[in-house]
Amino acid sequence: MPAMSRPISPGPASARAPLRFLRGVGPQRAGALARLGLATVEDLLYVLPFRYEDRRRFRRVCELVPGAGESALEVEVLRARTVPTRRRGLDVFEAIVADATGRLRVRWFNQAYLARVFLPGRRVVLFGRPVEDRYRGDLVLEHPDYEFLDEPDAEGIHTGRIVPVYRKLGELTSRRVRTLMYQALRLAEAEGLASYVPTATLQRQGLLDRLAALRELHFPGEGADLEALAAGTTPAHRTLAFEEAFLLQLAFIAYRRGLEARGRGTAYEVTDALRTKLARLLPFKLTEAQKRVLREIGADLRAPRPMTRLLQGDVGSGKTIVALLTLLVAVENGYQGALMAPTEILAEQHYRNIARLFEDKGADYRVALLTGGVRGAARERILRELARGQIQLLIGTHALFERGVEFRRLGLVVVDEQHRFGVLQREALVRKGAHPDLLVMTATPIPRSLALTLYGDLDVSVIDALPPGRQPVETRVYSEPERGLVYARVREALAAGRQAYVVVPLVEETEKSDLRAATTLARELQREVFPDVPVGLLHGRMPGEAKERVMRGFVQGRIPILVSTTVVEVGVDVPNATVMVVEHADRFGLSQLHQLRGRVGRGAARSFCALVMSEEASPQARERLELLARTHDGFEIAEKDLEVRGPGMIFGTQQHGLSDLRFLRELIRDPQLIEAARQEARALVAPPQGLERARAILQGLRPAWRRRLGLGRIG
Ligand code: ADP
Ligand code: MG
Repeated sequence: MPAMSRPISPGPASARAPLRFLRGVGPQRAGALARLGLATVEDLLYVLPFRYEDRRRFRRVCELVPGAGESALEVEVLRARTVPTRRRGLDVFEAIVADATGRLRVRWFNQAYLARVFLPGRRVVLFGRPVEDRYRGDLVLEHPDYEFLDEPDAEGIHTGRIVPVYRKLGELTSRRVRTLMYQALRLAEAEGLASYVPTATLQRQGLLDRLAALRELHFPGEGADLEALAAGTTPAHRTLAFEEAFLLQLAFIAYRRGLEARGRGTAYEVTDALRTKLARLLPFKLTEAQKRVLREIGADLRAPRPMTRLLQGDVGSGKTIVALLTLLVAVENGYQGALMAPTEILAEQHYRNIARLFEDKGADYRVALLTGGVRGAARERILRELARGQIQLLIGTHALFERGVEFRRLGLVVVDEQHRFGVLQREALVRKGAHPDLLVMTATPIPRSLALTLYGDLDVSVIDALPPGRQPVETRVYSEPERGLVYARVREALAAGRQAYVVVPLVEETEKSDLRAATTLARELQREVFPDVPVGLLHGRMPGEAKERVMRGFVQGRIPILVSTTVVEVGVDVPNATVMVVEHADRFGLSQLHQLRGRVGRGAARSFCALVMSEEASPQARERLELLARTHDGFEIAEKDLEVRGPGMIFGTQQHGLSDLRFLRELIRDPQLIEAARQEARALVAPPQGLERARAILQGLRPAWRRRLGLGRIG
């Protein structure tokens, strides 16, 4: 019979080698890791420890006392056995170990396999916390980490040093990950792991090379600064953060150069006649802030280079009308415009409002709605008319940049609530036009450093005032037992002819249990609390038609109470709704709550927002929520979020490209680092061969990185 052997893998065992190259990783485990996005040794190296343990200091057995804390010991195994217990499903493996100063009992539960390795006479390093055995009155070490010193490749990686602790990777415990990581590093050291960032740049910025940084983060040297490691502020952290920022900036620059090479931007004409025509469309007087922002955009539109502008404006500040006027400039110049919204509900709302406005004012622009819900003949027709240039303004979701959607002459793209989209998605839409102008809008105040990280080079306009007559939304935090008070406020509003939202968190659109929570709550409210009025239910998984039906019912006031998941979070505009109840408010980020609160207070009537905490919420959670009761300043709120939970919380969901940037925290904390990365990236691209060099670097990135940077299609 032929000997069983592993298949011979092609290629050298480089850092690009598949993880199967590591001892202990067979096809099955490799498959499981691949599902976690880890295909190669290099991928694995970027899985960083989430904390470190100081296991440097060895103690002697005689020094152990209860409460001594975690200690490392170098001992010899005297004897070991599996102790029977009376409880079924529980066995105890116990070893007696000793050094020159004394003996110690060590035990593990349900780890009978240890009997094969804890053999008398073997020398082992243990790391754990001694506890007192209440029955026997002696000390015992429970479940210590261990490492045998007589193994041929005893590496000293689990004990006797600063030890990295990893989150579980699928089935793999931190200890197993550590062992794999050590192998991965050794392999990378043997084969070399070139830096993505040019050496000259690293030197100028006083950074380490990539391999050195990874080594220091996984297996810090003897003299490492434990505090800096824990805080993520070591030179190694800085190095990887810089790497990320540099590559991102390089990608942006290369992308933009590519666009510019493909054709000049469009210089639109903005004549007085056009101004007058557009002014007639306005349903209200623009605020000064809106006017100023329109002037800034107007200057971009008239210039021949493509516009790339970020429009920030707090919830309800009136970004939509600015977007519409901008789009119409392109349309009036003979181009098509596209408005992309993050959810179907929002796209439909934009479409409804814009179509109604055109109708009211007798404007005969051709506008169409394209979402995932538009199918069959209706979709065919839209695509046909779009390709012929008959549709002037297309509104929709990400369905706008699917295959098969061809514009005749796309001139301008507006992306609403930008933070919901990944970099890649935005670019895919831009690619539909040869050199379209781009306006991205967000209600989430983004610090400039983050904006640079996300969008590269762009200009920023801010609408810094709300339309007149708005009153701040009265905001209160409630605990579960106070729920009755909340319903009383809802009832009060209903009696005055107003409407209410009740929002239930949905962390992931796919989480069934959350969905059930929304469904159950809607049913309960209907049956037990508000039997006399219709209670509607809205969530992202409902078919488009049903969603629209419910939303329409709410918009028209037939449904006074709308129970919803966070699909209403962004942009939904129903001025008659004056109460917002948020369930499990402690599970939301503050900025997200601010967005939710922004759904009310849109008309002249006084509005109210109730933040109902989960039963298990901590006192700190209450304190955090109280900030919303005190302030309506989106910037202040976002900053608090950043401080408390990091950038992920600002954006609320994991669906955008953001969550993939691992060093984002670091990047935001250190705007100078981003600025340095930007300048270095620019300097690299500047010389005649610079762009080719940049592209070569980007092409050479590992696939996971390319995906992360949205580089799929950057040529
Ligand atoms: P957001 O910036 O959150 O997208 P919207 O564009 O939805 O805000 O505007 C919020 C509400 O304010 C809408 O009902 C809109 O019609 C109204 N609005 C916008 N600008 C003005 C203005 N200048 N005067 C009065 N109402 C306005
Ligand atoms: Mg909006």
